Amino acid sequence: MGESGTDEGLTTIGAFAKASRLSQKALRLYDELGLLPPARVDPVTGYRLYAPAQLEQARLVAWLRRLGMPLARIRAVVGMDAPDAAAEVRAYWARVESDVAARRELAAFLVGQLEGEGREMENNDERLAVRYAASSDTGLVRESNQDAAYASSRLLAVADGFGAGGGPASAAAVGTFRELERSALPPGELLNALDEAVVRAGRAVREAAAEEDSGTTLTAMLWTGSRLALVHIGDTRAYLLRDGDFFQITHDHTLVRTMVDEGRISAAEAASHPQRDLLIRALSGRAGVDRPDVRLHDVRTGDRYLLCSDGLTSVVGEEDVRRTVAGAAGPEAAVRELTGLALRAGAPDNVSCVVADIESAEEAGSAEQAGSAGSAGKAGSTGDAGDVAGGATRATGAA
Ligand code: MN
Repeated sequence: MGESGTDEGLTTIGAFAKASRLSQKALRLYDELGLLPPARVDPVTGYRLYAPAQLEQARLVAWLRRLGMPLARIRAVVGMDAPDAAAEVRAYWARVESDVAARRELAAFLVGQLEGEGREMENNDERLAVRYAASSDTGLVRESNQDAAYASSRLLAVADGFGAGGGPASAAAVGTFRELERSALPPGELLNALDEAVVRAGRAVREAAAEEDSGTTLTAMLWTGSRLALVHIGDTRAYLLRDGDFFQITHDHTLVRTMVDEGRISAAEAASHPQRDLLIRALSGRAGVDRPDVRLHDVRTGDRYLLCSDGLTSVVGEEDVRRTVAGAAGPEAAVRELTGLALRAGAPDNVSCVVADIESAEEAGSAEQAGSAGSAGKAGSTGDAGDVAGGATRATGAA
């Protein structure tokens, strides 16, 4: 550019500013930042001269600025050919939308929390109860169980440890959240309490699993009386069955999920991707990665929740999971049948499931206590395994 040594066809910065609808000040800034260097700078006067062909690029810079794209990223985009630039803009926007989604959840949480005081009181009339079952199985291939699964009338949790200290890590994470079970949580304190618990859990994980590569996922739902606080990091999942619809209410923090969100690969390609296990967020107690999603979730009578580790979802298709969860007579049957499906599929990984039903307290009071038939088998090797019931347990949730 500009090596011809002639000013023929080049325009002054003033004319170029007018044509591109950018200010001269902006053009000088873009030059300094390397976004849009002029075609030629007069060696004597220092005047910037632009080629007409640069108009399109200048307009693109202006539009990308309006999109809020950071300058460094704009610099990369304007240097690309059109298809690559299109992919880059698409990827950028997917990231923006996911950031907004996370902030939307936080905003909703804060609104819910600020409104919470009144809601809790309203709901005192309609006492809800939680019926639950949990199971953690080593599977057929792994030598040890690094998952932890736990369920009580106030807490549902599944964690999937990884690395040499994976077992202690998952147990430590769930154990930290069990401390919250014992304390009263006023609605106004909930977000702070969860945030502190996340920090404590990270610390506990690091203490329990000193190995550099160790950590754990965690998907936990803490019952507050009328709502569930959901804390989630990694690729363990929570699903909700409501009015016959079955949907995942957590977002996998995996590389492949991000690639699907950014439009780089399809969901089908993600399922067989060689790096499908790679987590982009996990609890390890090391700065920068311990940022769980925290959300307040309204519960309804009739809701059925499933929390599970990837040892279930990586070998049992979502439709089979849905059918089993929807068809099971109760939480204990659901947990047993889901674990059975994973075992029949070869269970290459540890398999953990927690299923919980939300009932009205009256309904729960008249329901028959289910027997503890059929232990889900080799319960987890973690400290939480003692509370992982093979059979059903029931308790009123409005403690
Ligand atoms: Mn796993």
